[in-house]
Amino acid sequence: MGLKLIVLIKQVPDIAKVRFDVEKGRIDRSSAEAEINPFDLNALEAAVQVKEKVGGIVTAISMGPPQAVTSLKDAIARGADEAILLEDKVFAGADTWATSYTLSCAIRKVGDFDLIFCGEKTVDGDTGQVGAEVAEQLGIPHIYYVSKINDISQDKIKVMSEVDESSYLLESDFPLLVSVTKDVNKPRLPTLRDKLKAMKAEIKVWHANDLSDVINLANVGYFGSPTTVHKVVIPKEKERQGKTFKDVPGGVNFVLDALEAKKLI
Ligand SMILES: Cc1cc2nc3c(=O)[nH]c(=O)nc-3n(C[C@H](O)[C@H](O)[C@H](O)COP(=O)(O)OP(=O)(O)OC[C@H]3O[C@@H](n4cnc5c(N)ncnc54)[C@H](O)[C@@H]3O)c2cc1C
Repeated sequence: MGLKLIVLIKQVPDIAKVRFDVEKGRIDRSSAEAEINPFDLNALEAAVQVKEKVGGIVTAISMGPPQAVTSLKDAIARGADEAILLEDKVFAGADTWATSYTLSCAIRKVGDFDLIFCGEKTVDGDTGQVGAEVAEQLGIPHIYYVSKINDISQDKIKVMSEVDESSYLLESDFPLLVSVTKDVNKPRLPTLRDKLKAMKAEIKVWHANDLSDVINLANVGYFGSPTTVHKVVIPKEKERQGKTFKDVPGGVNFVLDALEAKKLI
C-alpha cells in the first residue's frame, strides 16, 4: 500500500548573491544561480524517509518558471519518484494567496494524497504563509514548525512542533500538511548515479489549461492576487563608527565615559 506523499518545492535564487531590482520592487532572478529552497530540502528528505519507513510514493510539485525543472530534477535525484512543474505566464506575479491557490488546485488534480510536506519558509519571499494557506484551501489540518518526526504509520503521524519557545508533541491522522524546520533532518546528498538517473527523468509540466477542470483562472497570478507591493525599501546597512585614539588613556577614558553614559558601569 504505502502513503501518497507530496512535497512542495520552490526554486529560489542563491540568496548570498542575488540582487534586488528596487524600481520594479522585485528580486532580479537573473543575478544569481537558482537552487531548491533550503527548507524544502528538509521537507523532501522528510518525505523520502517516510517512504523508506512505511512505503509510498513521493511527488514533488513546484510553481515557477520553466527553469524550475532543474530543481525538480534535483528533487528526483534526492529521492522523489515523480515531479510536476506548474508553469504558465498567467501564474506569474502571484502573491502568497494566489500561489497557494494554484498549488492546491494542482494537488486536487493529483487526487489521492495522505501527507503534504513543505518548508517552514523560503529564503527569498520569507513569508512562511504558503503551506498553511495550501492546507486551508484544501480544507485539511496542518502542523507547522515540525522539528522531529517521532513516529509514522499507515494512518497516523506523531511529530514535535516548536512554536514560541515551546515544544508540542502532536499526533494527527491523514490527510495532513506538515511544515518542517531545518532541525527535522539532514538532507542527503545525491550520488552521481542518482543525478544521472534524474537527468533522464520526465518532469510533467502542467499549464493553466491542464488544470482547467479544477482551477478558476481569476484567482491566479498577478491579477488574481489580493495584495500588491506598494513600495519596496531596502534598509541601509549601518556602518560601524570607528574612532581612533593616538594615546591609550584618551581611548580608555572615552570607553569609560561611553559606558557610564549608557549606565553600564
Ligand atoms: C503582491 C506580490 C507580488 C508578487 N509578485 C511576484 C512576482 O512577480 N514574481 C515572483 O517570483 N514572486 C512574486 N511574489 C512573491 C511570491 O508571492 C512568493 O514568492 C510566493 O507566494 C511564495 O511565498 P514565499 O516565498 O513567502 O513562500 P513561504 O510561504 O515562505 O513558503 C513556505 C513553503 O511553501 C512552499 N512554497 C512556496 N512557494 C512555492 C512555490 N512557488 N512552489 C512550490 N512550493 C512553494 C515551500 O515548501 C516553502 O518552503 C509576489 C508577492 C507579492 C505579495
